[in-house]
Amino acid sequence: MHYVERVLSELKAKDPNEPEFHQAAMEILNGLRPAIDRHPEYEKAALLERFVEPERVVLFRVPWVDDRGTVRVNRGYRVQFNSAIGPYKGGLRFHPSVHLSIIKFLGLEQILKNSLTGLPIGGGKGGSDFDPKGKSENEIMRFCQSFMTELYRHIGQDTDVPAGDIGVGGREIRYLFGQYKRIANEHVGVLTGRGLTYGGSLVRTEATGYGLVYMVEEALKCRGDGFKGKTVVVSGSGNVAIYAAEKAQSLGAKVVAMYDSNGYIYDKTGIDIAVVKQIKEVERGRIREYAERVKTAEYHEGCKGIWNIPCDIALPCATQNEIDAESAKALVKNGVKYVGEGANMPTTLEGIAVFQKAGVVFLPAKAANAGGVATSALEMAQSSGRLFWTFGEVDAKLKNIMVNIYHNMDSAAAEYGAKGDYVAGANIAGFMKVAAAMLAQGIV
Ligand code: NDP
Repeated sequence: MHYVERVLSELKAKDPNEPEFHQAAMEILNGLRPAIDRHPEYEKAALLERFVEPERVVLFRVPWVDDRGTVRVNRGYRVQFNSAIGPYKGGLRFHPSVHLSIIKFLGLEQILKNSLTGLPIGGGKGGSDFDPKGKSENEIMRFCQSFMTELYRHIGQDTDVPAGDIGVGGREIRYLFGQYKRIANEHVGVLTGRGLTYGGSLVRTEATGYGLVYMVEEALKCRGDGFKGKTVVVSGSGNVAIYAAEKAQSLGAKVVAMYDSNGYIYDKTGIDIAVVKQIKEVERGRIREYAERVKTAEYHEGCKGIWNIPCDIALPCATQNEIDAESAKALVKNGVKYVGEGANMPTTLEGIAVFQKAGVVFLPAKAANAGGVATSALEMAQSSGRLFWTFGEVDAKLKNIMVNIYHNMDSAAAEYGAKGDYVAGANIAGFMKVAAAMLAQGIV
């Protein structure tokens, strides 16, 4: 049995109830095959077995009291996956669907993503099954304070530096940071995505969406093309989606559709991002309200229909497994040429196969959405150096990082006989550095 197959089957046998983690591990390890075959020393050192096993998993109780005085109990997680190249780094997700399998898949992806940025950060991920939707400001604050009351003892600016993800934006980070500072009595860069008045970095809010578009722009440029005049579909209407749409429009594309978990809006004249921002960021409303305000827009209940809209470029920016084989086929039939993953694992393995077979330029999440964590690492650098860079400085560094990631994965794919296969290229380029660091540090 091939080394990769053996490790995957052992992993499935050990934790049979973790389908998302298996899916991510399959995508990664299969993409690594050409590199594994060239490096027999990996198997001798049980490198893959160590790579798929988190260094540490913390699971904890998060008790809090809601506005009616009822005691509520959620579950908190922090998976400290791999610290070979730097302190654990990765976001916190607050969403009712969160469980260990989701956090482990995100953590595993994060190791390679962080390596791809070229910055010294290891991989981790965390979160809770808490749903911030419909909660009052005070409930959010109390929950975040309770969550941090346990989490603080496991993190630190040189140990583990969490950030935001689904359901954890600027508001949650400020309450989490306030509680950390209060307990630990230190004002340090222990969380990223902080506000600008207390250690945050310019561009962090925009970074994942902007970074995604910078990478797609480079892929277009290398093929003698650009965003100008292109029709784009963006799924989601959260942090990543909004800033991907904003940047794509600013480069001359027309973003015609977006969604939230209830349904999608379609505006063939191009979506007005300022209205989306007002509804989602300021009012915390639903995307259907867009169609009530903008006459050229239609609203459709349900999400899946968005992938039947003809477009040149699709940017899935909401959540895992948004695009299955059927949706991928609909996109291909309608002429999609580029898919850039803003969300983590938004395309199923079958969906990826459809895109690759059709010759679509497919830019996988761990490369395409690395702009967020890269800018988080720039925030860490500014915190430790007591520096504050301008918007233009951070944005230029972000763009440079995204362009470099694109070329690194392009070269790795070509070097290992998989030209144009960026799933393999991103996995290999990210893994080689982590593998070298793990081998160098002995059996740990
Ligand atoms: P947000 O919470 O800001 O937004 C998430 C968006 O996705 C919302 O519009 C939400 O709709 C929608 N969504 C969530 N679940 C579903 C679902 N099951 N079906 C349809 N729509 C859904 O999160 P982010 O924008 O921060 O994150 C989006 C993705 O990007 C995630 O996969 C995340 O891991 C990834 N990512 C984020 C980074 C960041 O810097 N923020 C960095 C790298 C990756 P609703 O409001 O209805 O819930």
